[in-house]
Amino acid sequence: MKRVVCPYCGFGCNLLIDPATLKVKPYKGEPNRGKLCPKGLHATEIVKSGERLKRPLKRVGSSMVPISWGVAIGEIANRLLEIRELYGPDAVAFLASSKVSNEENYLLQKIARLFGTNNIDNCARLCHEGSVHALKLAVGTGTQTNPYEDIPKFKSVLIWGYNPAETHPVVMDYIVRAKRNGAKIIAVDVRETRTMAFADYKLVIRPGTDIVLANALAHIIIEEELYNGDFIRSRTAGFSEVRMAVKKYTPEYAERVTGVPAEIIREVAGEFALAGSGAVMWGMGLTQHVSGVENILAVINLALLLGYIGERGGLYPMRGQNNVQGAAYMGALSEFLPGYVPLTDEKFRRRVARLWGVGDLPTERGLYLTELWEAIEKGDITALYIVGENPAVSEADFMMVRNALKKLDLLVVQDIFPTKTARYAHYLLPASAFCEKSGSYMNSERRIQWSEKACEPAYDSKPDWEILTMLGRALGLPGFNYTSVEEITSEYFRLFPELEEKSVEELKNSDGIFLPKKRLHTWEFATPDGKARFIAVEWIPPWEDPDEEYPFVLTTVRLIGHYNTGEMTLRSPSLVRLMGEPKALISREDAERLGIRNGDWMEVKTRRGKIRMRAEIGNVPGKLVVVPFHFKANRLTSPALNKAGTPEFKFAAARVKKIRNE
Ligand code: SF4
Repeated sequence: MKRVVCPYCGFGCNLLIDPATLKVKPYKGEPNRGKLCPKGLHATEIVKSGERLKRPLKRVGSSMVPISWGVAIGEIANRLLEIRELYGPDAVAFLASSKVSNEENYLLQKIARLFGTNNIDNCARLCHEGSVHALKLAVGTGTQTNPYEDIPKFKSVLIWGYNPAETHPVVMDYIVRAKRNGAKIIAVDVRETRTMAFADYKLVIRPGTDIVLANALAHIIIEEELYNGDFIRSRTAGFSEVRMAVKKYTPEYAERVTGVPAEIIREVAGEFALAGSGAVMWGMGLTQHVSGVENILAVINLALLLGYIGERGGLYPMRGQNNVQGAAYMGALSEFLPGYVPLTDEKFRRRVARLWGVGDLPTERGLYLTELWEAIEKGDITALYIVGENPAVSEADFMMVRNALKKLDLLVVQDIFPTKTARYAHYLLPASAFCEKSGSYMNSERRIQWSEKACEPAYDSKPDWEILTMLGRALGLPGFNYTSVEEITSEYFRLFPELEEKSVEELKNSDGIFLPKKRLHTWEFATPDGKARFIAVEWIPPWEDPDEEYPFVLTTVRLIGHYNTGEMTLRSPSLVRLMGEPKALISREDAERLGIRNGDWMEVKTRRGKIRMRAEIGNVPGKLVVVPFHFKANRLTSPALNKAGTPEFKFAAARVKKIRNE
């Protein structure tokens, strides 16, 4: 059996794959301890799919014609060099992938920076980049602070804008164990989620009012002196600013804004504070708002008030994709070098440059993924190289993105399937699937895990690292002589002091290596003075207002059996059978008023477009329509960005009506 990292969520389960049959069993070690969700169990179904990209293709007129690998890479490299000659390196952008290995993300950002641009980004921008910005401000590092194994030890778990029962099913095992050990589970969301079935407190708030609730909880903790004075005095700064700022967020005011009764807010504040320890877990219900960074700061303030850090608590921004943490850590972000080191850190930048055989690297921040589309429209970006991403579906207001993609002089898409984005490509490069190659991945808890190759690449596909090695060489970049993926692993190990002494063999024979270590901030924060920062935040309402024409709020969610833009899970027969047809969820009262029954076709429309979907009538608040994002929901979503460049996927003014049954 080969041990392979699951290609789906950021929890990072290991699959044991039989190379002969590709049958999957769960790995009994860490982190999944013998458990898998349906996505992991059926992960290999897509590997031999007849829909795989089979050979390199080039656009000729309106057709895609097969070409050899050598010709494809040579032509792409020549076009990139021509564009650089004509317009400069910043006319080119690279999109890395949260689904490919650390080595592959490392290589793509290395290519971008040696080519001369920081226009390198990945879809971490669409999910947890707000968490990175907030965590760096507050505690000095941009990641999850504690391992999963700590969750069952804490006496409370605050789950905010996060529905692990659907998104990270194996995490639920840790939360349920915490509950069995006596922890109070507090869940906050805009509707009653499946996760809330396990919660002691279910706080259903009006969409976009998270800061008001968090500040009201802080208000009570401070007013009733439930905070941890010793921790605040010795390990934090900025408490008085937060105390002033939350004064006006009384429970009564919060009840009016959030809809949660004041006495429940009081009770929850007391339970959470008196628990004595706690995990604070959040997902995209917090980050995908124009107030995404501030939402997270408000929730971090609660952990700091109570000293729920280190041994007594942890901050858990739960990552979506299997290597989104690794992509970011490897430097596939336009504002950070590997290890989240800012581009302005001259010492580190020159160290990286020396390792790569050049004098220095570009210092100007590159474009965020979400800024690319306007830059293409303006003619500032003329070439885009995409590895394993599907912005034609994953981006907010995707018709705007599709229009931009049509305007590129050069679009290269490297992927395992012909995605919707591939329709606009000039070159399509077939990549190998997750179990057809080896390499390392980093899960949400910063555990680097080795993933073994279980079978040969299908058709004429190649591992992404091999394709990128060929590209780097064709571009004339120094150091692209890799003959094995392990050589790239060893190279990136050299960038991190904690890994310098480690070998790839050690990684292969372990249940993973935590970078930089298992538990952060136990004694000291990664800020200049070693203290965490309270940062006072005021409520920022959503970008769009519902009105008479668009009286609903549209929010997007994930489903247990589907993954991102569906390019993989929608090709898995077992998952398609399990999940059935997608449905948009509305309340009983809205359904009655609009004459909609379960299974009827309905139209959901926003200021950007409309989609049709069958209706499901369920336990959601009135004037809320909940649409799974895996299909075409982003035709509707709001492109308004927060400070970290993440769109407000979770809130758009919408209209719902019944349409003819077909
Ligand atoms: Fe585990 Fe996530 Fe894969 Fe499910 S999708 S098996 S929870 S890693």
